[in-house]
Amino acid sequence: MERERIEREILSFNKLNPLEQEWFLTETWCTHCNEADLGIVDPVYFRQGEKEFIEGRCNVCDTIQTTEIVVRQLQN
Ligand SMILES: [Zn+2]
Repeated sequence: MERERIEREILSFNKLNPLEQEWFLTETWCTHCNEADLGIVDPVYFRQGEKEFIEGRCNVCDTIQTTEIVVRQLQN
């Protein structure tokens, strides 16, 4: 079975507010180290389908970590 590939739309990490940037750079859970708050480097902020993610490399083990951003209620 082939999984449908959803295109990534890269967004600017700087569009996030500074608190969010700080949070994503420091509070990341690493699935490889199996530990929280290790932090990431080289963050990439992107949208895929309806969801938004931050991806970056773990500060400790260099494994790519992808974190889904829980979407906030947008004001229209
Ligand atoms: Zn790690």
